[in-house]
Amino acid sequence: MDFDDYQIEARTTAIYPIGVIYPTLGLCGEAGEVAEKIKKIIRDGGEFAHNTLIAQELGDVLWYLANLAADLGFSLDEIAHMNLDKLSSRKIRDKLHGGGDDR
Ligand SMILES: [Mg+2]
Repeated sequence: MDFDDYQIEARTTAIYPIGVIYPTLGLCGEAGEVAEKIKKIIRDGGEFAHNTLIAQELGDVLWYLANLAADLGFSLDEIAHMNLDKLSSRKIRDKLHGGGDDR
């Protein structure tokens, strides 16, 4: 399965009010769930590797990401390419470190 196949399939289960607010809030919430799982593993001295609970939360993040991207008119494949192009440019220009969105 590639990014766009996933996005198309995820879209078939997207039942929410039209607009970007719902998937944006969902994306933030699910990212928080990932952080919560990591926090509890740290607290309890558990293992990160192959933790299926974290993987499931990452899947939830992916679902909201896919649907938010679609709501904004982008395919996941476009988002992935744009991100890698940005990072590649920063690497070539030795700008991977540091801050700022427009490096
Ligand atoms: Mg979740």
